[in-house]
Amino acid sequence: MDDRPSPLDPARPDDGVAAPPDAAFSMHGRESLADGEVEGSLDDEIAAWVEWTYFVDTHEHLPEESTRVRWEPGHGIPCDDVGALFSHYVNSDLISAGMTPDEMGRLCGPDVPLADKWAALEPHWHAVRRTGYGQAVRIAAKRLYGVEDVSASTFEAMAEGYRDLVAPGFYERVLREVAGVDSCQVDSLDAVVYRETERPLLLMQDISIMDLHMGPDWRRPAAVTGIDVEDLVDYHGVIDWWFDHYGVYATAVKSQAAYGRRLDFADVPADEVAEPFLRQLSGDPVSNAETKAIQDHLFWYCVRRATENGLPVKLHTGFYAGSGHMPLHRVGTNPGDVCELLRLSPETTFVLMHICYPYEDQMIAIAKHWHNAVIDMCWAWIMNPEASARFLRSYLMAAPSNKLLTFGGDYVPVELVAGHASLARHGIARALTDLLRSGWLTRSDAIELIDPLMHGNAEAIFRLEDKRAAARTVPWDHLVEG
Ligand SMILES: [Zn+2]
Repeated sequence: MDDRPSPLDPARPDDGVAAPPDAAFSMHGRESLADGEVEGSLDDEIAAWVEWTYFVDTHEHLPEESTRVRWEPGHGIPCDDVGALFSHYVNSDLISAGMTPDEMGRLCGPDVPLADKWAALEPHWHAVRRTGYGQAVRIAAKRLYGVEDVSASTFEAMAEGYRDLVAPGFYERVLREVAGVDSCQVDSLDAVVYRETERPLLLMQDISIMDLHMGPDWRRPAAVTGIDVEDLVDYHGVIDWWFDHYGVYATAVKSQAAYGRRLDFADVPADEVAEPFLRQLSGDPVSNAETKAIQDHLFWYCVRRATENGLPVKLHTGFYAGSGHMPLHRVGTNPGDVCELLRLSPETTFVLMHICYPYEDQMIAIAKHWHNAVIDMCWAWIMNPEASARFLRSYLMAAPSNKLLTFGGDYVPVELVAGHASLARHGIARALTDLLRSGWLTRSDAIELIDPLMHGNAEAIFRLEDKRAAARTVPWDHLVEG
């Protein structure tokens, strides 16, 4: 059974666009499996369905394509060369493996000779090239630039491939043609609250409620609105403004508050925080308990506005990006804390991101128990591909299949989405064939799951038909897609 294709050696042609499976694929039933003659064919069949099925990508941090093409620093990409491919996620594995800040500065810095970049990478690359983060880079390099692996002999060709690819239209090429992604849901790290994107159909945007409920610079999200914030009531008006202006176009709201605190948001009434909010607004001291109460109150204010607007609430749960700062004891409280949120607002759809790795088993229990919990595998396939395949197998045997989202690249450099999508497809096919082989699923059980898992669930949960219609009527005028 290990003759199955590896994502590093894709069976699919590189220029393949998501398309229906070829009718010529042999269709063997589960009964045929017993004779042992068609094992490869059944695996191939599942792999082919998964390869040719498009993803709705539920989470990215992609900057606008124009800022990549023009190359402006400050949009999350630290250099305009092949070093950029090592600047997100795999950089954390490299640091954990022993790379020094000086070496990282050379690898990902601007205006550093290519040979110096390779000299910084080479001593550490062998330790991370097999991790999900490392494999995403290798697969992207192969699929986008046609280079065999990342090595001293290919680094220059990679650098050339990088330069040649970054041109107007390359987002479409990478996302739709290579990664097989129909649309993304972007949390723009370089925008305040919401980005008026130049590509509203390809790069759908989430409203970042993180910017609205965590503070303490309450005037930052108010600046664009023109509202002069003198008290909490004014600030509620700021939140209302963002939802009134962008709720119809946004796919969801998102908060990564879990990087800075527990998710134990209490439903604190406005009158309890009005006075400490005034003090914080004026820059006067507030206690930790008061800060928490203000954040809690504003979190629920945002959640209610999101729910009125039909927007799911995405919450970061689990593992922290970066290295050297993750308090795992706090991360471990995420599953318990979100149960209380699910109980407090049964009409809100909460999308629990990143399978709360490494507490992914608890997320299966949550999806099984709470009608308003959706689990999102965004980021998961590169964090730990093997744990993600195990999670998917286990989830499908326990929790309703309509509440699982299977792909979000979670990248800043778009190129790496191609690597991540390939790993995800391999993992999805692997999980389904493993369940088939162990007799837990029939062939039709497995094949019927592919469309909903890869895009159908996302279409329904985020009402993407409505969002596409809205995207065609956006009022801003710097659009580049028709
Ligand atoms: Zn993210």
